[in-house]
Amino acid sequence: MRVVRTVAELRAARPGFDRLGFVPTMGALHEGHLSLVRAAKAAEGACAVSIFVNPTQFAPTEDLARYPRDLDRDLALLTPAGCDLAFAPAPEEVYPPGFATRVEVDGVTGVLEGAVRPGHFGGVAVVVAKLINMVQPTAAWFGQKDAQQLAVIRRMAADLNLPCRIEVGPTVREPDGLALSSRNAYLSSEERLAATVLVHALGAALGSFGAGERDADRLRRSMRNMLDEEPLARTDYVSIAHPETLQELETVGEPGALASLAVRIGSTRLIDNTVLRA
Ligand code: AMP
Repeated sequence: MRVVRTVAELRAARPGFDRLGFVPTMGALHEGHLSLVRAAKAAEGACAVSIFVNPTQFAPTEDLARYPRDLDRDLALLTPAGCDLAFAPAPEEVYPPGFATRVEVDGVTGVLEGAVRPGHFGGVAVVVAKLINMVQPTAAWFGQKDAQQLAVIRRMAADLNLPCRIEVGPTVREPDGLALSSRNAYLSSEERLAATVLVHALGAALGSFGAGERDADRLRRSMRNMLDEEPLARTDYVSIAHPETLQELETVGEPGALASLAVRIGSTRLIDNTVLRA
């Protein structure tokens, strides 16, 4: 595996690959990231991974400074996963002095995470557009765990004619169902136990849906009732939305729905989702 730090080094390495899969990450790698690396490698025959904690997607009040960083550990995990090229740029390499461009995706960014974290998806869109232009992959891979991010990137890639496929990998979970996330490291042992309430709430929605419930309010209530039973959990939102536009639904029809939620456990904010489809 080659490790490069600058766009110039990346450009010099790129012709060594015909097709190239790409997995953008913020490091603190876990099995969720590595599953995307393996999928990208299997599909394209070669894989690049970026490790960059993107400052523009964090609000001043968020956890940019305390976000976990351990480049040596990340690099040691990438080689056995099949990564061929790791790109770990400094912030000034991505955002040199004078940087002034924004990438705003309307509609899909205004709800759910976008409503609670204004500016977040603008930061995601600009960095993913830049990274795809830097790496020039034939396909870029994203996790279902961040379903709204995926919807934003699909919209942007279509609107800007980005010359690569956008692919999705399934959410990787702990044995008790908690979705893997770099932010799980912030949880105390008591909070870690409480955090399983997210997957239980999604399970309640899946159970109701499986039993024939199509009324979105009742599906939302089934999630909220489960979350209310956990004293350490404070619910930011529960949502039953159209899987592409992310607009809230009254009734779940074709093409199904995205059930998603955001919950604070102590000072840690966790998100998760599942697809409801007949
Ligand atoms: P991050 O480093 O958090 O920006 O995530 C990088 C990529 O990994 C994104 O496409 C995420 O959606 C994906 N990802 C994060 N956690 C998981 C997970 N538990 N399962 C699958 N993909 C994930």
